Amino acid sequence: KKYVYLFREGSADMKNLLGGKGANLAEMTNIGLNVPQGFTITTEACLEYYDCGEQLPGGLWEQILPAIQDVERASGKRFGDPENPLLVSVRSGARVSMPGMMDTILNLGLNEGTASGVSKATGNERFAFDCYRRFIQMFGDVVLGIASHKFENILEEVKEKQGVTFDSELSPESLKGLVVKFKALVKQETGVPFPDDPYEQLKEAITAVFKSWNNHRAIVYRKANGIPDSYGTAVNVQSMVFGNMGNDSGTGVAFTRNPSTGEKHLYGEYLMNAQGEDVVAGIRTPLSIDSLQNDNPEIYRQFSEIAKNLENHYKNMQDIEFTIEKGRLYILQTRNGKCTISAAIRIAVELCQEGLITKEEAVERIDPHQLEKLLHRRIDDAAKLDVVATGLPASPGAASGKIIFSADEAEKLGQAGEKVILVGTETTPDDIHGMLAAQGILTSRGGMTSHAAVVARHMGKPAVCGCDALKINLADKIFMIGDDAYPEGTEITIDGATGRVIRGTVPMKDPDLSGEFQKILEWSDGIRKLQVMANADNPPDAAKAREFGAQGIGLCRTEHMFMDPARIPIVQKMILAQTLPEREAALAELLPMQEGDFYGILKAMHGLPVTIRLLDPPLHEFLPNGEELALEIQELKLTANLQDEKVQKEIKDKEVLLKKVRGLQEMNPMLGHRGCRLGISYPEIYAMQSRAIFKAAARLVKEGVDVRPHVKIPLVIHHKELEILRKQTEEIAQEIIKTEGVKINYQIGTMIEVPRAALTADEIAPFAEFFSFGTNDLTQTVLGFSRDDAEGKFLPDYLNQNILANNPFAVLDRDGVGRIMKICVDLGRKANPGIKIGICGEHGGDPSSIEFCQEINLDYVSCSPFRVPIARLGAAQAAL
Ligand code: ADP
Ligand code: MG
Ligand code: MG
Repeated sequence: KKYVYLFREGSADMKNLLGGKGANLAEMTNIGLNVPQGFTITTEACLEYYDCGEQLPGGLWEQILPAIQDVERASGKRFGDPENPLLVSVRSGARVSMPGMMDTILNLGLNEGTASGVSKATGNERFAFDCYRRFIQMFGDVVLGIASHKFENILEEVKEKQGVTFDSELSPESLKGLVVKFKALVKQETGVPFPDDPYEQLKEAITAVFKSWNNHRAIVYRKANGIPDSYGTAVNVQSMVFGNMGNDSGTGVAFTRNPSTGEKHLYGEYLMNAQGEDVVAGIRTPLSIDSLQNDNPEIYRQFSEIAKNLENHYKNMQDIEFTIEKGRLYILQTRNGKCTISAAIRIAVELCQEGLITKEEAVERIDPHQLEKLLHRRIDDAAKLDVVATGLPASPGAASGKIIFSADEAEKLGQAGEKVILVGTETTPDDIHGMLAAQGILTSRGGMTSHAAVVARHMGKPAVCGCDALKINLADKIFMIGDDAYPEGTEITIDGATGRVIRGTVPMKDPDLSGEFQKILEWSDGIRKLQVMANADNPPDAAKAREFGAQGIGLCRTEHMFMDPARIPIVQKMILAQTLPEREAALAELLPMQEGDFYGILKAMHGLPVTIRLLDPPLHEFLPNGEELALEIQELKLTANLQDEKVQKEIKDKEVLLKKVRGLQEMNPMLGHRGCRLGISYPEIYAMQSRAIFKAAARLVKEGVDVRPHVKIPLVIHHKELEILRKQTEEIAQEIIKTEGVKINYQIGTMIEVPRAALTADEIAPFAEFFSFGTNDLTQTVLGFSRDDAEGKFLPDYLNQNILANNPFAVLDRDGVGRIMKICVDLGRKANPGIKIGICGEHGGDPSSIEFCQEINLDYVSCSPFRVPIARLGAAQAAL
């Protein structure tokens, strides 16, 4: 088996076998760049090393020896020869770059004899012993496992003794002394002398690089970045070139474009008279690559040219390592550069405009998950932060403001123009007005799906939830973190993207929706097949959705409209009504309000469809909590004046309410009296909503606005439900169209949220113009997981034990939920070929789920306004 490839035998497309570094060294060698000669030991050899119980695979060494001879011939030097010694570096390099995670050894091949040889051959004793001391330290650290700081301490002592600050100022004598001391340290630490035989050194170094694949930090890095353990690392053995031969030598790293802004301008650093990691190690302050232009215009010119060629060759921004040896430029590494999302966008757009890549390639290069970062205000990267606690990153964006504990207070201050952060153990629907007025929300309890988190995400407001370091004392309006007190009014900052809680205010950056960002989305729109709609419940959200490019509203929930504090008493009256006329009276009061809601949102979305879902949650959600109510009653009875008629009435009202609350209590509300089951039991509720929709639409049509209401009936399980409810809505629509004398372009459809609906889609489809998969509920009902219980309690176990690969509420479960969706699509389209089918719910904004929607040929995805750009890009990538 071939374990060893000379650089000239490899190429860029051999990354799996040669690792990224090796494949690119080979590629650069073959396109004629000045790369020091060498060879690569394959990743397969590394895997076999582990398979044979951590031993070099048989036959490997026999292939290494002739490869060394090849390098010797190319360089005219000989490995281990004191007269004219060849030195090499031994460099790790996995398939995907894992910067700094594994080990590299420089200057290998040195001993007393070869060090004197280098000294004689170069006439530079200082240089020879500088290499030697570096080699002992690196080899000691990487191969022999001696802590680096032990070498550093000795180095510091020697520098102090000679009275110098920088390594580069050490005299040859000091360096020689250092070598002796380092060797003594090695002997002392390992019990054996430092290995002097270069071949022995090489064998041990290769073994150490293989081993570094499984060092702790590499394992952690792989886990964090989803890199399989089974890849293994390659080892590159390369002839050394020296940046530490004097002031005409140096070493550096540069990006072909600025990795934080994307600007097309060489960006990097270098140091003269230095080697390898000196630039990043902070030993001396490196110079900006710009100053190379003055210091050595010829080298700068050569390097710029190479940088340009490499970019053209790889059609991507490059991150390049180079060394200058006595005025000669060598390239030691190139790879596609890592950069911020805004830089990635600018670079992709400009590479396309420069004709290097196509629009499709540009679109494909942007990670949709990263896009969200650009849509919110965020903390300036350069800011110094006093992070005092960390909670869950519940809703992205950053916000600063004064701590406020009550929603009412937050609203008051918010209206007065103050910036506040609403803090509490949790939030409830009663806090909505405070949340709206606050800049951000911070809770000490609750997870990613707690009320605060869901509502904040929906509002596009930053939130940090479940920050249990916060000990809140509502009575005293104060919270503690450890021993530090944060009374109401203290300024804090929350970062909803990372979960950080920061003391004081910090500099922020506004969302960066630059021209390039729009370009990428425009190009995406030209590629994608799926339509992208938004979930929005009110005119401001609708406006945001439009701004982000939504093609309509795929889900407008009506329950939030009922939660308004001014309306909740009427809603409760409606629920508590004993007779139909009583209920209808309450509904009549709600009608104009609902009509106003729909008027606003239909108007904001003029020209585009607005899909309005009729009431969905169980009614008890609009009533107060039973236990609290019981306590209130008890307190009244104990403390209030029971003779007072007003008190008597209050108690009586509360008792009636409590009875109703208890009556509506359900064992399993998720599967209880909700969705269109409400419409079946209380047709008058849906009738009122339909009336409100069509009256609003008629008004707008008369005002000359193009409106397209789509009425969506939730939680259907049987075609008869839809048949009945559709008929009612249609009759109302027709009646209003007739009496108002207008034409309204409307549709009626249903949500698919339970398996029965999906499996009988052929029976349901004739009654629907559209299907909308409510994948949150569908996931709950297909898996039989209640979301609130799963995420907090057992789902982590399922993920840790690899039973499920992803949280099915975040990433669509293709094998289960997805399979049912596919059946539904096939049945539905067969029975009603014109039916429009889409998805709403969290999955609509998740790129992997979007890809699946494309696979089963849905017509649209709908997601929260802030995810619309992500969905536009995701849908384009899914279509490629
Ligand atoms: P990493 O993957 O951590 O960047 P590298 O293998 O690229 O590790 O090497 C670390 C440093 O050593 C780099 O700065 C590189 O330029 C330098 N280096 C590696 N091999 C040689 C060589 N043959 N001659 C001179 N410098 C080298
Ligand atoms: Mg490198
Ligand atoms: Mg639902």
